[in-house]
Amino acid sequence: MASQSRSLQNDDRVAVVGGGPAGSFFAIHLLRVAKLLGRNLEVVIIEKRGPTDPCSEDFQCRGCNFCAGLISPRLNKILDAHDLLVPEEIIQGRIDYVWIQGQWKNFRLRVPNSMRMYSVFRGSLPGRRSGRPAGFDGFLLGAAVKEGARILYGEVQAVSYTPSGMPSLTVAAQSGAKVSLDTSFVAVATGINAHCGHDYRDDPLIASLKRLNPSFLPARTRKTFIFELDVGEDYLQRHLNHEIYFVEYGSPGLNLEHAALIPKGRFLTVALIGKCVDGANLPREGRQVAHDFLSLPQIDRIFPGIAEVPITCACVPRMTVSTAESPFADRCAFIGDAVGSRLNKDGLYSAYTTATQLAETVLVNGIDKQALARGYGKTIKWLAADNRSGRMVFGLSRVAFTRPLVSRIVYQAFATECKVREKRSRPLSTVLWKIASGTADYREVLRDMCGYTVLRSVLVGAAVTVRNLAFERLFGLNWGEYGRYPTVVLREKREVLKGELASSLGEELGGASEFERMYAIKIRGSEREIMEKLADFGQPAARFVNLRFVNVRQIRGAPNQVGSVIQYSMPFFGLSSEMQLTKRVGFETLLYQVDERLVNYGKLIFNVAPTKDGNRRLAIYTSFRYKNGKGIVSRLLWDGVKLLFPEFMHDIVWNHALCTIKEDVERKHAPPPDGNQASKPGPRLLPSLQAEK
Ligand SMILES: Cc1cc2nc3c(=O)[nH]c(=O)nc-3n(C[C@H](O)[C@H](O)[C@H](O)COP(=O)(O)OP(=O)(O)OC[C@H]3O[C@@H](n4cnc5c(N)ncnc54)[C@H](O)[C@@H]3O)c2cc1C
Repeated sequence: MASQSRSLQNDDRVAVVGGGPAGSFFAIHLLRVAKLLGRNLEVVIIEKRGPTDPCSEDFQCRGCNFCAGLISPRLNKILDAHDLLVPEEIIQGRIDYVWIQGQWKNFRLRVPNSMRMYSVFRGSLPGRRSGRPAGFDGFLLGAAVKEGARILYGEVQAVSYTPSGMPSLTVAAQSGAKVSLDTSFVAVATGINAHCGHDYRDDPLIASLKRLNPSFLPARTRKTFIFELDVGEDYLQRHLNHEIYFVEYGSPGLNLEHAALIPKGRFLTVALIGKCVDGANLPREGRQVAHDFLSLPQIDRIFPGIAEVPITCACVPRMTVSTAESPFADRCAFIGDAVGSRLNKDGLYSAYTTATQLAETVLVNGIDKQALARGYGKTIKWLAADNRSGRMVFGLSRVAFTRPLVSRIVYQAFATECKVREKRSRPLSTVLWKIASGTADYREVLRDMCGYTVLRSVLVGAAVTVRNLAFERLFGLNWGEYGRYPTVVLREKREVLKGELASSLGEELGGASEFERMYAIKIRGSEREIMEKLADFGQPAARFVNLRFVNVRQIRGAPNQVGSVIQYSMPFFGLSSEMQLTKRVGFETLLYQVDERLVNYGKLIFNVAPTKDGNRRLAIYTSFRYKNGKGIVSRLLWDGVKLLFPEFMHDIVWNHALCTIKEDVERKHAPPPDGNQASKPGPRLLPSLQAEK
């Protein structure tokens, strides 16, 4: 089809098919840049979902756009830079921590202070929301209108060229009437879920666009499953306070590849990808898939009782897994999901990128196919290359998070970095953050993953893991069914923790010691329950610090009472040492002092403190100054004693102890999700696909 080789000019009309983020970003950017160039354009956004309230000016459309609704730090930065400040009522949850679930332990990654990450509802669902439903897409659409775009509610059914080579749209308006719209340029921003659950390649509109551009090859897509649970704000505060979870594995019966759990107000959004979704007959089997997922032990540990919460909203949208080929023709181009999105993460960022790059191309380079290929084509190449790297990144991450031994090595590498390295120089943590947040291009992530500094951290992790495994075996520490939780105290938090312990005890922790270690774990339980568990320390039936070759027994006094004595003995070597509980502060702190048989000075402190989310933190602090001996023989002897009690043994023993204490306390405790919801005898039904989303 012949067409003039020119860019958009004054009074040209541009049609944008679809009022999702890509369509709005395109309209906003196009109008802003056109203004700078002194060109006046008419921009019409055609959106098939009608407004929730035709009399309102808030541009909220009915239904939603099928998304987990996480706004990445990278996108947030862009929104801020372009004066698109997302209003408070749209932000549903601010995220401070991102968790990645691993087979060994879960990785907790802090959102850097300089970045903002939050969750939003895209549209007006779920229907149970209180107040006026405000969604991200409505906000962007409103911003596009402010820039001068016009919205036409209706469904574009076909695009064809007029005899003069201009695109002409056939629109089924809300009234039912068919309207024709001739334009100078059309941006196709339909996403891939116009008919949620169906492959967009079968869409009649896409078929008409293929007739305009026979070389267009739509992106490949994959089924996903999203549902919302009304768990209540209290439950979310206790279990997911300003946090999100990415789960990377299911079970032998539930083949899962990736799940995101994202809090929004009183709701929890769950998005699943994997063979368990690909192979399921959805939405019919949705309730079963959701139940199987929520009942996984690794999920139930984080969210006890959640499998009983009714689903309030569910849908089976598709997500792109490749990039479309030749997504441009004369006076027409695809943007957003319709052309492809970044694999598994940050689709809204790629919608922004494709939209704005196209807007610049049509204003600067031109609107014919060659000009689009020269300008906008670079963005398509970037996206395709990014996703090629993305596939490798996710392939490697799957190995790292789902293979038990590799997962343990990677966790150990991560934990060691957090313990010993400065916050600014933790290469593995940085790369994990980039993967989890989607905040860097996958090519950069892949390069970092294979870089020397990350490999060095992993090698250290491997060495520590092999050593720990050997010593766990030697001392008979079994994990069995116990969950494993992070117990690392970040290097930058150590002085803070020491200060808290000193203030609880009302005394300084003591002079310089040769050896100092601290560990902490979050526990859902009361101070009393945790203290009661600590009373097992040194009891024959204790599940923690119950070691082969080393007898740990309470030999005098009553558990947890001042004056009680715990003895550590190694009968085989004829060595023993005692620790006396010299101070107790209510249900808060226990201070044990070590006698001077084997060390000059030694302390063991247990401390229970409230956390911001209404739970408790159990911290353990140990410090020792070893005896040195005077002559050579004596020195060698004491060095030998040191070797019998290597410092890392504390890491192994207290790490195991904290996890078992947590699990024991929580198993007893486990309150259900927001009482009303879980116990309400209501319909625990998966709403039909179209009815809700
Ligand atoms: C399960 C899942 C979870 C996701 N989670 C996230 C996340 O947390 N963060 C993130 O950044 N990205 C996420 N994404 C990706 C994100 O949803 C998409 O990248 C984003 O929605 C793309 O925007 P879009 O405007 O291209 O398409 P869409 O958001 O799909 O918008 C298309 C619009 O076009 C309209 N439309 C369609 N056909 C027509 C027509 N014929 N006529 C008129 N209007 C039409 C639709 O009604 C819709 O409003 C997720 C995707 C999935 C599937």
